Amino acid sequence: SSLYGDMRTNAAGLDLTDEGTLRKLDHDMQATLAPPRLVAPLIDGHSSVGDSRPVYDPADLRRQVGSVVEATRADVEKALATTYSAAASWAATPVAERAACLDRLADLYQGHRAALMALCVREAGRTVADALAEVREAVDFCRYYAAQARNLFSAPHRLPGPTGEDNRLSLHGRGVFVCISPWNFPLAIFTGQIAAALAAGNAVIAKPAEQTPLIAGLAVELMLRAGIPPSVLALLPGDGSRIGPWLTGDPRIAGVAFTGSTLTAQHIQRGLAERQGPMVPLIAETGGLNAMIADSTALPEQLVRDVVQSAFSSAGQRCSALRVLYLQDEIAETVLTMLSGALDLLATGDPARLSTDVGPVIDADARADLEAHAAGLTEAGRLLARAELSAACAHGHFVAPAVFRLEGIDELEGEVFGPFLHVVRWRAGTLDQIVDAINATGYGLTLGVHSRIESRIRQIADRARVGNLYANRNMIGAVVGVQPFGGEGLSGTGFKAGGPHYLLRFSTERVLTINT
Ligand code: GLU
Repeated sequence: SSLYGDMRTNAAGLDLTDEGTLRKLDHDMQATLAPPRLVAPLIDGHSSVGDSRPVYDPADLRRQVGSVVEATRADVEKALATTYSAAASWAATPVAERAACLDRLADLYQGHRAALMALCVREAGRTVADALAEVREAVDFCRYYAAQARNLFSAPHRLPGPTGEDNRLSLHGRGVFVCISPWNFPLAIFTGQIAAALAAGNAVIAKPAEQTPLIAGLAVELMLRAGIPPSVLALLPGDGSRIGPWLTGDPRIAGVAFTGSTLTAQHIQRGLAERQGPMVPLIAETGGLNAMIADSTALPEQLVRDVVQSAFSSAGQRCSALRVLYLQDEIAETVLTMLSGALDLLATGDPARLSTDVGPVIDADARADLEAHAAGLTEAGRLLARAELSAACAHGHFVAPAVFRLEGIDELEGEVFGPFLHVVRWRAGTLDQIVDAINATGYGLTLGVHSRIESRIRQIADRARVGNLYANRNMIGAVVGVQPFGGEGLSGTGFKAGGPHYLLRFSTERVLTINT
């Protein structure tokens, strides 16, 4: 099978319009959450004991979803020691066995779909549809990296050379990888990083986002059940600013996979550069300042639907989400009127309800930052439309979706990680300048284009420095193996997650030359 070809099918969904399916899903999701869950550092199969802190539902802070024991310095040391001594034997484990663990994990995830979804909804505020998509993506990551690993690691690749010489290139695990994952995809990205690192033959220390330890705990439980040896996978829940440096500063680690903010990635990179020990890769997938360019040939109904999905679904808490919509003058009035109508129809509230479009943001800090941003633009007279929050939002971290006007993308200082859209109007003849302004932000993650002129789409694609460009559709929800995902510049190092080159970044190459 080839590196790019179709080696597997993506995971199937669920029919959320079927009554029976929904009843069962609801029942199974409820069952997961009672009683509240407890997650602690898990090292070599043993849970640490210690004081725990409660974890609350961001949609309703009166609801405790579980509690977490955060990792101490001693836990970190123990995790480093055990994974470091187990790494070589995992790297030497035949790739077929490593891949089989991931395939079994994919099956286990599917079997525990409702439990995983329940935690995505209650711990991370993901809507039911998002939670379902997330389980599917996690399943896809497992199967995709398993297939890629079989392909890349099974046997050395024979290389041409002079007669009498046998040259073979092989790939190997590097050692202990630290996987630091975000709360916005608490299952999919958490799993994707770990699955890639394990598939390539690395031991893993997983540091999930401090906001979402419970789902990480369930995922790791299933990983061990799938046959991953306990010695090669440690879970260290806790605060990244405290635990992160203990991990990334240690000479025993062989690489870091990080998804999160650009600032944190830069901090990690500096730390890696300054520490003693081997030089190791950082695979960072960070923020974006993502734009969409719509010209006068765009179909307004389709455009508005795609804009609403791209900007507001997952409460805008995707690094792929749309932040700045460039609307050509000719259609601007029509589209803005339709957009503000669409905003009124968006249901913000309990993410467990199927009718909810927009759930909560993750925590009080996120909400405060977003409201400060909204207040600044509103005071400056830039507010175009804002939805209203219903009474159902009173007990959670909810932010009402809003649309603001800007003169250009350069007015934004950085990523605004929430349900806010900024609109800039543009005139014919300025397209190249717009793309240049988008490039000049330094970010390069996603870009949307709506136009019925194909040469224009290509003109933009040729000029834009972004990782994922989507034309005439929404610009979120990259599918594993179909739209490998990740950006450049301030948006990340590559290689793309869910793409054919990702595993290479987790491995080291060796060449054996024998004079025969
Ligand atoms: N892969 C996700 C998407 O395409 C975004 C990942 C992220 O937000 O980190 O929407």
